[in-house]
Amino acid sequence: MKFGTKAVHAGVKPDPTTGAIMTPIYQTSTYVQPSPGKHKGYEYSRSQNPTRDALQSNLAALENANHGLVFASGMAAIDSVLRLLKPGDEVLSSNDLYGGTYRLFTQIYQEAGIKFRFVNLLDLTRVSEHFNENTKMVWIETPSNPMMNIIDIKGLSGVCKKFNALFCVDNTFATPYLQNPIKLGADIVMHSVTKYISGHSDVVMGALMLNRDDLHEKLAFIQNSTGAVAGPQDCFLVLRGVKTLHIRMQRHCENGRRIAFFLKSHPKVKDVFWPGFEDHKNHDIAKRQMSDFGGMISFALKSDKIENAIALMENLKLFSLAESLGGVESLVGHPASMTHATIPREERLKSGLKDSLIRLSVGIEDAEDLVIDLEKALG
Ligand SMILES: *Cc1c(COP(=O)(O)O)cnc(C)c1O
Repeated sequence: MKFGTKAVHAGVKPDPTTGAIMTPIYQTSTYVQPSPGKHKGYEYSRSQNPTRDALQSNLAALENANHGLVFASGMAAIDSVLRLLKPGDEVLSSNDLYGGTYRLFTQIYQEAGIKFRFVNLLDLTRVSEHFNENTKMVWIETPSNPMMNIIDIKGLSGVCKKFNALFCVDNTFATPYLQNPIKLGADIVMHSVTKYISGHSDVVMGALMLNRDDLHEKLAFIQNSTGAVAGPQDCFLVLRGVKTLHIRMQRHCENGRRIAFFLKSHPKVKDVFWPGFEDHKNHDIAKRQMSDFGGMISFALKSDKIENAIALMENLKLFSLAESLGGVESLVGHPASMTHATIPREERLKSGLKDSLIRLSVGIEDAEDLVIDLEKALG
């Protein structure tokens, strides 16, 4: 089955009691058993819930994975993955990372004795130097947030296999529509479902998708033991949102391309970070591992003055100033004070994240209107 067909049909079947075409919201904590230990596969909703099951199967199908697990948030999903580690283990990652992930790494798990090293994972010829016998996991985002760097997933997966390190990819920016890390050798794919997959800015949720049965068993055990599961109402909303993921992504990409080129040609704009440009430093890898380039764009004005960036963000009308991304409506964000404020300034500057950097999540409105909005605000 192709992507659009899976988005609409995978995991969902008519409700066995009524024939309802939409999976009902099984808003129940428990399930009646005719006799102790005899049940229909459902005992308690932290452990299993039919609405959640449908969504988990749907998302697994979209990522071409054997298993899917959904969590109360993206951070809860990442937290469960980190629980696979033990004190003394090391994780390699890059410093161009979602701020909340960086905070979880450095302020929660570092305290618990796990070591994190933020290194350059873009240059595969030198990446092996960073591994040692304690390196148990590699965690990446590609495209990265917010610098839009592209890491070679297939290349890095080969290195991870050689060193026996678990390879995890946060695929939030690309979505399974644009990129399938599992096909490229990733062990675990993570999503902030809050963003594109849900797509309507009305749910906070996370997901893990993976192939390995042993790993799925461990993560399902962690999920049930720690309890950060997604509720049935939220699962219903995401089941509804995901049906249009492919259509939305097509428009996000179209609008993203239009706006990226508009910004690049504007006399007041200095740098535009978008992997679709032929002169983007990792464009060839992006072309190889992604089917299109998405609707996330970061840019900096020629003037480095932060006041000018702030004035621009305040003057936009259609782009709302808000955290988050991936919804149908366009958003603008200021990474240094918002999504990435939890990363120390020196670390941010190392990856090129200047105080004046602006990030756009281009929505699915008419591109013409979005360009006019940017043109006015830049004026
Ligand atoms: C938002 C986000 C997260 C965290 O997900 P939540 O659903 O907000 O907990 C992780 N990674 C990336 C790339 C994100 O954009």
